[in-house]
Amino acid sequence: MKQETLFISDLHLRPIRPATTRRFLDFLEHRAVGVESLYILGDLFDAWVGDDDPSPPNNAVKRSLKQLTSSGTAVYFQHGNRDFLIGERFIQETGIKLLGDYTLICLYGTQTLLTHGDLLCTDDIPYLEFRAKTRKPDWRQNVLAKPLILRLLYARWYRLRSYFHKRKKTQDIMDVNQKTVEKVMRDYNVTRLIHGHTHRPAVHEICINGVTAQRFVLDQWDQCGSVLRWNPDGYRMERIL
Ligand code: MN
Repeated sequence: MKQETLFISDLHLRPIRPATTRRFLDFLEHRAVGVESLYILGDLFDAWVGDDDPSPPNNAVKRSLKQLTSSGTAVYFQHGNRDFLIGERFIQETGIKLLGDYTLICLYGTQTLLTHGDLLCTDDIPYLEFRAKTRKPDWRQNVLAKPLILRLLYARWYRLRSYFHKRKKTQDIMDVNQKTVEKVMRDYNVTRLIHGHTHRPAVHEICINGVTAQRFVLDQWDQCGSVLRWNPDGYRMERIL
C-alpha cells in the first residue's frame, strides 16, 4: 500500500449526473486502489432514502466500494446532510467504516480534525434545527419504516424545497461561522481541519492560540472530480477528469 491518504466530499451522486458517477467509479478502480486510506467526508450521494433503495447508481457504487475495501484500502465515511440515512446495511455491503461527525486522525504526524462541514455553519439556525430533529433515532426509525416509494417522493419534494430555500438565504449564512471554526479547533486542540459541504474550495490560514492553523475546504465534484491527497511530504490538490 502506498503511503498516501485521499480526501473527497460532495460528489452528490444522482441518476441525472451519470458522468460524475462514471468519474467516481473510475477513481475508485484506478486512482484509489493501492492507496492506504480514502476518506469520504459526506454528501457522496445527493439523496439517500434508505439502504434498501436499489435505484441507480447505488448498486454500482456499492460494488466498487466493496472491491476497493477488499483490495486492502481502508475507506472511511462521514455522513453529509444529504446522505445521513446511510446505515448499517450499506456499511456491511461495502466494507467502509463510518466515522462520527467530528473525527480526529493522526495524518502523518499531525492531529487532523475531519468533519462534513454543516455543523460549522452555525448562522443557519433553521437548518441546524432541521438537523437536530432528523438525527434523532425515532425520526430515523419512523422515516425508514415508510414504503420506499414514499421515501423517494419525499426526497424529491425535499430537494425542490431546499433549492428554493437556499435561493433566499444569503451567501454568508451558507458559509462556515469563523468563531465556530476557531472554537471547534481549540476544543479539539488541532491546527488542521479538513471539511467539505460549502463547495468553496480553499486552504485558509488562521491563528489558533497564537499558532498558524490551516482549514482545508474540499471541492464538490461537478465538471470534474477533486481530491486532496496527503503523503508524508505534504499535500496536493488533484483534478479527476
Ligand atoms: Mn453538505
